[in-house]
Amino acid sequence: MSSEQKKTISIVVPFLNERENLPLLYERLVRVFEQQPEDWELILVDDGSTDGSARWGADTAGADPRVKLLRLSRNFGHQIAITAGMDVSSGDAVVIMDADLQDPPEVVAELLAAWREGGDVVYAVRKHREGETWLKKTLAAGFYRVFHNLAKIQVPMNTGDFRLVDRKVVAALREVRELHRFMRGLTCWVGFRQKAVLYDRAARNAGVTKYPVWKSLNLAWDALTSFSGRPLRWITGMGVLVSVLGLLMAVVLVVDRYLHPDRFEKGWASLAAIILVLGGLQLISIGLVGQYVSRIFEESKKRPLYFVQERIGRFNTHND
Ligand code: UDP
Ligand code: MG
Repeated sequence: MSSEQKKTISIVVPFLNERENLPLLYERLVRVFEQQPEDWELILVDDGSTDGSARWGADTAGADPRVKLLRLSRNFGHQIAITAGMDVSSGDAVVIMDADLQDPPEVVAELLAAWREGGDVVYAVRKHREGETWLKKTLAAGFYRVFHNLAKIQVPMNTGDFRLVDRKVVAALREVRELHRFMRGLTCWVGFRQKAVLYDRAARNAGVTKYPVWKSLNLAWDALTSFSGRPLRWITGMGVLVSVLGLLMAVVLVVDRYLHPDRFEKGWASLAAIILVLGGLQLISIGLVGQYVSRIFEESKKRPLYFVQERIGRFNTHND
């Protein structure tokens, strides 16, 4: 009688200059997995670090066969680093987490429990966010509201990239090769059985955030434009509105001419204001269309998402 094969969990951790955090993350993961029935592997994805964290990863991969290091050829960004880690993962489930210990490794046990109960995508929803600026929290809340309204899919509020995805979801995501990737959106978009686990998000253990506000805004913009073409419809709406206003104004002017044929029209200042406003609206519109066109341009080149410089450790990559 053959007993069921032992399952494996892949933990994917993209990192950029997290030398002080990686050892602690590793230790805490080791402790968490002492209590779990599954085997596990830790896939560290070096997204162009320059602070010796890759060195630490290589040494640890040499000492512990469960640890693997994938070094990208340069900094490709968090979302692509996650993708690279998923691409080389071999687990029956894959957990994506940050290296800075904001996603507590102990929560992984809860994600696994929800997965064993049948969840295919188990996202960790933040109850509290510690150590983040007021500006960042307000922008994040605003973003989720706009995203809910625009995208046809429901990305749960207050989730980061910390989540577990089943093997079949990884296989589905592997087929999505768009360059501007919003992984949180994509893992919801693919469907399957989605579950949530609540947790308290900790403050960053050491180092500084690699997501300054401008980078977060870029990600938000990528998310909106890759999931919705609705902003283009707003332009049409704006055009209709301005045209109707213009027509009304024309009617008012004609009637006024008949009622007061002798009145001398002064009005270059109001004319200048109208021209400026309309000119501005037109530039904004062209810019917005340009944003979508440039995305078509970038996607149409079909360049690989990333290049790998080095792999350290034994990868048992699945080819689903
Ligand atoms: N990160 C990365 N590449 C980047 C930026 C960030 O791999 O270009 C990693 C970073 O090392 C961390 C995770 O992505 O493990 C989340 O970044 P961070 O904690 O700085 O973001 P925050 O939690 O402040 O939003
Ligand atoms: Mg962080």
